[in-house]
Amino acid sequence: MLRSVILAAADSSRLGRLVSSASLSKNVASRFVAGDDVDAALAAARELADDGLSITLDHLASDTATAEDARATRDEYVTLLGRLRTAGLTPAAEVSVKLSALGQRLDEKLSYEHALAVCAAAAEAGTSVTLDAEDHTTTDSTLEILSDLRKEYPSTGAVLQAYLRRTEGDCRELATAGSRVRLCKGAYAEPESVAFTDALDIDKSFVRCLNILMSGEGYPMVATHDPRLIAIAEDRARWFDRSADEYEFQMLYGMRTEEQARLAASGNIVRVYLPYGTEWYGYLLRRLAERPTTVVRFGRRIPKKG
Ligand SMILES: Cc1cc2nc3c(=O)[nH]c(=O)nc-3n(C[C@H](O)[C@H](O)[C@H](O)COP(=O)(O)OP(=O)(O)OC[C@H]3O[C@@H](n4cnc5c(N)ncnc54)[C@H](O)[C@@H]3O)c2cc1C
Repeated sequence: MLRSVILAAADSSRLGRLVSSASLSKNVASRFVAGDDVDAALAAARELADDGLSITLDHLASDTATAEDARATRDEYVTLLGRLRTAGLTPAAEVSVKLSALGQRLDEKLSYEHALAVCAAAAEAGTSVTLDAEDHTTTDSTLEILSDLRKEYPSTGAVLQAYLRRTEGDCRELATAGSRVRLCKGAYAEPESVAFTDALDIDKSFVRCLNILMSGEGYPMVATHDPRLIAIAEDRARWFDRSADEYEFQMLYGMRTEEQARLAASGNIVRVYLPYGTEWYGYLLRRLAERPTTVVRFGRRIPKKG
């Protein structure tokens, strides 16, 4: 119930404007978001890279209501990729892109063309793009666009959400050679008709999906902070005889930083999802819906812990 209320607030732009200007929320955001602009993103990415971590950068944009907004997002990513390359941060850093921010809801073809331009800039910079997963009404369109992008840019990554009932099937489809697949639990409020809503059912689905990806031919990207699922992923990697460069862990910036360091120190690739931009309100509320205590604790200026 509380989670649904918070997720509804995450989509309210009026509330967003109000909260974004409050200093308490700015203080909390600085623990989970790199900063407002590309310079801040590059500085945070540099620190992570120096700590031996890989990065995926996400530009937090406001709702894409017009074709102009979609073009602005495309241009932001192209600029970001150029700057990452110049700074020598590729291939350690890649980018995560939401097709909705590239205009998917306005015109699918337009979002595909913009995504293609971002993939071209990524290839030029020596890195890749991963398409974030959004609510279930976009899944078919996103996977179709992914399939088209992969014809030209085969390293383009997919994201699959374990809470969706369809996802085991999608894992089977995507567990093919060269296919980069991020597996996460899923962050949107979804109806029972399409998604598991019980936490244990979601975890069980995550493990079934993990088994398919780890036993398949692709490159699994295990995106979770959940200690049990991380332990199971480590176990499956051993069981399916994957070397450390044949899968990776992913976590969000500011979350379980000690665990990120532990996994990296034991030889794993660990990629940190690093958001930046002025529109951080919705992102922060999604994190609050998942883990209220962690977010509120940072708001009270208690020192950073994993
Ligand atoms: C890299 C990355 C990319 C993502 N991309 C997408 C996407 O494209 N689309 C999408 O819908 N969702 C995405 N997500 C969000 C994801 O779907 C989940 O909503 C989010 O990760 C929370 O689920 P969890 O697996 O981390 O575990 P949770 O269910 O939140 O937590 C499970 C357990 O893990 C432990 N834990 C979790 N967080 C912490 C913490 N901060 N400190 C200490 N212990 C903790 C606790 O024991 C907790 O009970 C992404 C997540 C990551 C990490």
